[in-house]
Amino acid sequence: MNDRPDDHGEVTRVAVLTARGRGAIAVVRVWGERAVAIADSVFRPFRGSRLSNAPVGRLRLGRIGRGQGDEVLAVVMAGHPQEVEVQCHGGPAAIELVVEALVEAGAERSTPDRWVQDRSETPIRAAALSDLVRAPTFRAASLLLDQSTGALERELGGCLDSIRSGEDRSAAEVLTTLADRGKVGTRLLEGWKVVLCGRPNVGKSRLLNALAGYTRAIVSPSPGTTRDVVSVRTALDGWPVELADTAGLRQTDDEIENLGIELAGRWIASADLVIAVLDRSTSLKPSDRAVLELRGRRVLLVANKSDLPAAWDAAAIPGVGRGAIPISAERGDGLDRLIEAIVGQLVPSPPQPGEGVPFRSDQLQVIEQVSEALKAAGGRNRAMELIEQLLARREGSCVGASVKNRPGVGRGLP
Ligand code: GDP
Repeated sequence: MNDRPDDHGEVTRVAVLTARGRGAIAVVRVWGERAVAIADSVFRPFRGSRLSNAPVGRLRLGRIGRGQGDEVLAVVMAGHPQEVEVQCHGGPAAIELVVEALVEAGAERSTPDRWVQDRSETPIRAAALSDLVRAPTFRAASLLLDQSTGALERELGGCLDSIRSGEDRSAAEVLTTLADRGKVGTRLLEGWKVVLCGRPNVGKSRLLNALAGYTRAIVSPSPGTTRDVVSVRTALDGWPVELADTAGLRQTDDEIENLGIELAGRWIASADLVIAVLDRSTSLKPSDRAVLELRGRRVLLVANKSDLPAAWDAAAIPGVGRGAIPISAERGDGLDRLIEAIVGQLVPSPPQPGEGVPFRSDQLQVIEQVSEALKAAGGRNRAMELIEQLLARREGSCVGASVKNRPGVGRGLP
């Protein structure tokens, strides 16, 4: 790897910001003190003056790269230090032509994550921006966006102020709230795992398709068609969820044993929530009763095929009562209520827009450590130190120079 410090001891870097793979256009960024000089030295404009003389924000058409080079648009971006964005053709060869030229001119090959880090004032904001790119749903993105603009830092800063002024109790309350929100925040990228189980033919595949909104699992009238786990990533009320349809609980001579095997299965064991599916249109079978034994906090009971005449009355069955949600996976009846119940179990108190939400497990760990320190005799200094570390600004971030002496910086406040 190159490591060529420029005149001020800083390194100028180049990274491809667009995703890997083919695309019509790729975006290449050059940043650091010498970004304009380096881009200027390789950019051959079709017309007009050099890139370094172009007004900020003006797109220039030209070429970069060996031989004929790639036809690119280059623009000097506003900000200090200035950055240059190059938009080139999206194929790997065209991108490499451009990046190679910039590297030969003195830029260090880098990554989009590094770009985000370098232009973020704090590690928390940098992490939020990095995760934002990977956010699978709008809701996840909007919570991460709040953290990237300082929501979590503001609440941690407030907590620090409370400890400083002796209001330990209110600081402890904030920490408990943050830890609670963190249970949601740390799931924003991966989502929650919801597993459907039940004997063959009760309608699990149909329900998975209905919840996911499209046909993915094979639905067949012959029992036991879905042999393996079929999983699909989807969003329920804007929350990322991975739905999995386990192989049906097969009717063997030993259903209980079968169920035991299922229960031991990786999926059910690691599920955040199990949806136990019953078929309301046929009498309950012994294997259904085994499903009923799954009942617990992490299980939702569903009585499917409500569009057909009922073969049993939920209220009359011990362990079911009003607890089974009637649905028709085929017609979609009752799905809204089911989704509401699923989300209610997974995210009982969703964070509100603008609220601070820890979104990485290391942040949650520190918050727990601060709570512990605050409870311990003489632990207040340790608690403050931990928050200060979490809020510390990055050394040498692109924007750091302009904020280093701003009021509140020492206290980690934006
Ligand atoms: P699985 O073995 O539990 O995955 O069950 P499937 O999803 O394969 O469904 C078995 C059969 O039941 C198929 O013929 C489905 O069309 C049918 N089915 C599923 N849900 C419903 C429903 O809500 N109403 C009716 N009438 N039929 C359904």
